[in-house]
Amino acid sequence: MDIPRIFNVTESAHRIHNPFTPEKLATLGAALRLETGTRVLDLGSGSGEMLCTWARDHGVVGTGIDLSRLFTEQAKLRAAELGVADRVEFIHGDAAGYVSDEKVGVAACLGATWIGGGVAGTIALLAQSLRPGGIILIGEPYWRQLPPTEEVAKGCLAGSISDFLMLPELLASFGRLGYDVVEMVLADQDSWDRYEAAKWLTMRRWLEANPDDEFAIEVRAQLTSEPERYAAYTREYLGWGVFALMRR
Ligand code: SAH
Repeated sequence: MDIPRIFNVTESAHRIHNPFTPEKLATLGAALRLETGTRVLDLGSGSGEMLCTWARDHGVVGTGIDLSRLFTEQAKLRAAELGVADRVEFIHGDAAGYVSDEKVGVAACLGATWIGGGVAGTIALLAQSLRPGGIILIGEPYWRQLPPTEEVAKGCLAGSISDFLMLPELLASFGRLGYDVVEMVLADQDSWDRYEAAKWLTMRRWLEANPDDEFAIEVRAQLTSEPERYAAYTREYLGWGVFALMRR
């Protein structure tokens, strides 16, 4: 049980598997005014950077679940490195349908809302683990500019224009689900570069180390095409942000 191999290759050197820099992740943690001991649940926790740094900086405790064996191992190593292994736990597994035994103050899913079948389903799933008055965090793309054609949406690796909303509409959609948006931190083009461009050096190094791997053809093709595709489409059209929600 694991995610497609391409992600375990291209994002093997990432600590944050999203268009957020460490600074933006820290800004979000500070913005939420977290209290020591706050319990955090993170579905699709990746390499655990959010839980580990917030445990270090704000004394939160919590659990992350991720389907990537590699990322989950990296998360455990990071917890040990930051001296928070007694406060955060990382589970390798499918987070679909995961509800925590103990209610949490913050329930998060950053950049993995397919886990609940989309934004609305993921909010409903996270809500089952949330204590009254708790905060849900959703990390999700939106259109910075509306793609003029479906071709452009596909260039952003979206299935279609209708996969994402413009920012005001995304914020309004949270309201329609019965939630106040109480905070947000947005990616920008420079933080998108840290996520996307960092994959290119990782791919190049991987190709040099694994020239005879059968997967090398796919990685080579991606390294050749990705910089131009990213600059033409994702960087121009796709935004991303983390939205903090509280039940009305
Ligand atoms: N929230 C993390 C990772 C985002 S990338 C961060 O911001 O760094 C999306 C993550 O979802 C990947 O780590 C991937 O392994 C994980 N994932 C994909 N499908 C999943 C599933 N069904 N259950 C749990 N994790 C999943």
